[in-house]
Amino acid sequence: MGKLFGTFGVRGIANEKITPEFALKIGMAFGTLLKKEQPNKELWVVVGRDTRVSGEMLKNALVSGLLSVGVNVIDVGVAPTPAIQFACRYFNVDGGAVITASHNPPEYNGIKLLESNGLGLKKEREAIVEEIYFKEDFDRATWDKIGQLVERDIIRPYIDEIKSRVDIEAIKKRKPFIVVDTSNGAGSLTLPYLLRELGCKVVSVNAHPDGHFPARNPEPNEENLRGFMKMVKALGADFGVAQDGDADRSVFIDENGNFVQGDKTFALVVKAMLQEHDGGLVVTTIATSHMIDEIARQYGGKVMKTKVGDLIVSRALLEHNGLVGGEENGGVIFPDFVLGRDGAMTVAKIVEIFAKSNKRFSELIDELPKFYQVKTKRHIEGDRKAIVAKVAEIAKERGLNINTTDGTKILFDDGWVLVRASGTEPIIRIFAEARSEEKSKEYLDLGLELLDEALKS
Ligand code: MG
Repeated sequence: MGKLFGTFGVRGIANEKITPEFALKIGMAFGTLLKKEQPNKELWVVVGRDTRVSGEMLKNALVSGLLSVGVNVIDVGVAPTPAIQFACRYFNVDGGAVITASHNPPEYNGIKLLESNGLGLKKEREAIVEEIYFKEDFDRATWDKIGQLVERDIIRPYIDEIKSRVDIEAIKKRKPFIVVDTSNGAGSLTLPYLLRELGCKVVSVNAHPDGHFPARNPEPNEENLRGFMKMVKALGADFGVAQDGDADRSVFIDENGNFVQGDKTFALVVKAMLQEHDGGLVVTTIATSHMIDEIARQYGGKVMKTKVGDLIVSRALLEHNGLVGGEENGGVIFPDFVLGRDGAMTVAKIVEIFAKSNKRFSELIDELPKFYQVKTKRHIEGDRKAIVAKVAEIAKERGLNINTTDGTKILFDDGWVLVRASGTEPIIRIFAEARSEEKSKEYLDLGLELLDEALKS
C-alpha cells in the first residue's frame, strides 16, 4: 500500500504531484471514510485555502470529491490555517481540509485533513484514507444524496474570538506602533485588521493577498527578512511581525531591527500565561530551549517534552489538558482556542504583554533567562536513524545522561546537545545549548565527536 501523507498532510508541486485529479480523489476518500464511520449522520466538512495561485483549482476539485460521496461542505475561502482549524469547532462539523503549502515556494501546494475539533487527522484515520484512495473504493452517492455546498465567512468570527482573549483596554492605552509583513499570504486578511481593532497603529507591507509571493519567500527566517528588519527600525516602530504563507507562524523584530528567535517569544507567552493561570502544563519538543523549563520552574508550571512536530505537541496538549504549547519556529499553540500553531493569537498575546509591561520590546527579551544555542548539520547518506542510535550507545558507554525521545539528546547540568536525523532531508542536525557561549560550543563539539565515532564503527 502506498503512502500519501507526511508528518502533516501531503505537499508537492501544483499540477505535477498535486493535481485536481489528486485533490478530487482525496476529497472522495476522506468523505468515504467519514461515511463509513457514521453512515446515518448528515456530514459536514469545512474547506479553506491559503492565497496560492493553484488554491482555487485544488479546492474546487476537493469539494467536488466530498460532494460526490454525499458529504456537505462549508467553504470558508481564503483564510489562515488556524482560522480554518477554528472553523471546525465554530461550525461544529465532522472534519476539515486545508489547501496550503505553508512556507514553501509559490509553485507548491498541499492538503491537510482535520479532525472534527480542528486537530490534524490521526495517523490511523489517515491510513484508512490512503487505503480508500489507492483501492479507489469510493462510496459514491446516488444523484439525490449528493452533498450541498455553502459559503461562510470565518475571518470575522476568528478575529472577534482573538479579541475576546486579550486585554484590549490595556493595548488601547499604550497604542503600540507595529509594522507587519504577511508575505502576501492568508494572514493579509486578518493580522493588519486585528491589530488595528486591538488599538494598535499598524503599517503593513506585502499585505495584498497574492499567491505569486512577489515580495519574498514565505518562510519568515532572518535571511528572508533582512529588508523588513531595516524597515522596522527606520520607521521607529515598537516592533515588527512577519508571518509565513498560511499564517500559523509569526516571528518578531525588536525596535532596533533585530530578529528575535521564536523560542524567546514563546517564552514570553509561557511566562505570562503561567502567571495568569497560576501554573499549568506547558508542552514543547525536546529541541526547544531549556529557557522554557526555567520559566516553568519560576512560575509554578510543568513541562512535557515530545518529539519534534507541531501536530505531536497539539495532540499532547489535548490529551494532557495542557495550558500552552509551542516550538522554536514562531508558532504558539493555545489549545482551548485552536489545536495547532496560531500566528495571529500569538501576536495578540505578545501585543498584550508588551502593552501591560511599559517596557521596550528588546527589554522584555533581555529579561528572559540567558541561554546560548549553536546549531550545525552534516550531510549523511545511509541509515541516519541507526547512526543516531549508535550515538546513544556510545554516549551511554561513556556514562553520559541521555534521552532518546527523538534522536539522541545528551543532558548536562548546565546544557545539552541533540543529535537528530532530519525527517525530510539527508542530513543529521546537531543542536547544543548552554548557559555560556563557550559551553554551548563545547557541547556541540562533543556531539560532532560522538557522531564521527558512530560513523566509523
Ligand atoms: Mg505555516
